[in-house]
Amino acid sequence: MFGWLAKKRRRKILEAPFPFEWEAIIRKNMAHYKLLDEDEQRRLRERIAVFMAEKNWEGCGGLELTDEIRVTISAMACLLILNLPRQDYENVESILVYPSERILPEQKIGFFETALAPLETPGPISGQAFEQGPILLVWDAVHESIRYTGYGYNVVYHEFAHKLDMQDGVADGTPRLRDRAEYRDWVKTCSREYKKLLKNVERGKRTFLDEYGAKDEAEFFAVATEHFFDQPLGMKRAVPELYRVLKNFYRQDPAARESQYAAAREEQTRKTEAAFAKATDEKKGDRE
Ligand SMILES: [Zn+2]
Repeated sequence: MFGWLAKKRRRKILEAPFPFEWEAIIRKNMAHYKLLDEDEQRRLRERIAVFMAEKNWEGCGGLELTDEIRVTISAMACLLILNLPRQDYENVESILVYPSERILPEQKIGFFETALAPLETPGPISGQAFEQGPILLVWDAVHESIRYTGYGYNVVYHEFAHKLDMQDGVADGTPRLRDRAEYRDWVKTCSREYKKLLKNVERGKRTFLDEYGAKDEAEFFAVATEHFFDQPLGMKRAVPELYRVLKNFYRQDPAARESQYAAAREEQTRKTEAAFAKATDEKKGDRE
């Protein structure tokens, strides 16, 4: 339960100004930030400040945690819950960050596997969400997600989607939904889309969704979440029904944000060109 002391602490966090350097990090590392309107950006910054302060962060394998690491991971994690009321990943206590896959301690992972039931396949991993435990992230992999933005790959979205999925006690690809109608819609749509992906992967067909999503329903939801936030317009075109149920669940429409942003940029370019043309005409006029 959220006691008065915790409430007071949270109020204090929110009263402090959000450091300018942190916002610069978000702008640099999370492409989605520029798509948000001012109010959404403000609410996201608030969530980030709380998340950073309330979670326990550990740099592992010799990694020294920096503001860049904590702010980047927090921003991506909080984007998922931006419009989910009373949602602050209560099932995430700690975030462990390793520098690279090569440094991950085999033994430790082995321990987690038996004790805490991780989801991902054994072997080199870029992240891991433990049902009764922490989130483990490999900073190299987070960096790849930043570098290859727009391809539907983001390890932070992926692992935190698993944690949302786990909040009802099972990692089965269905997070906590609002009502029975939403459950019915979710199950019907996701099973259909999952089967479609499975069939296409088995036949060796190219698929829009990353084929890792065919592993099981939990991975399907995590992979779908990556596409939803990192490649929204493409996803809406390729798998519109899956996009729709995710939009209902997250209460966000990233594809609309992406098209609005593109339209605004086009308009800006048109205005700049028009102003330039006018200035050129005037100069010509001066010479005549
Ligand atoms: Zn996964």
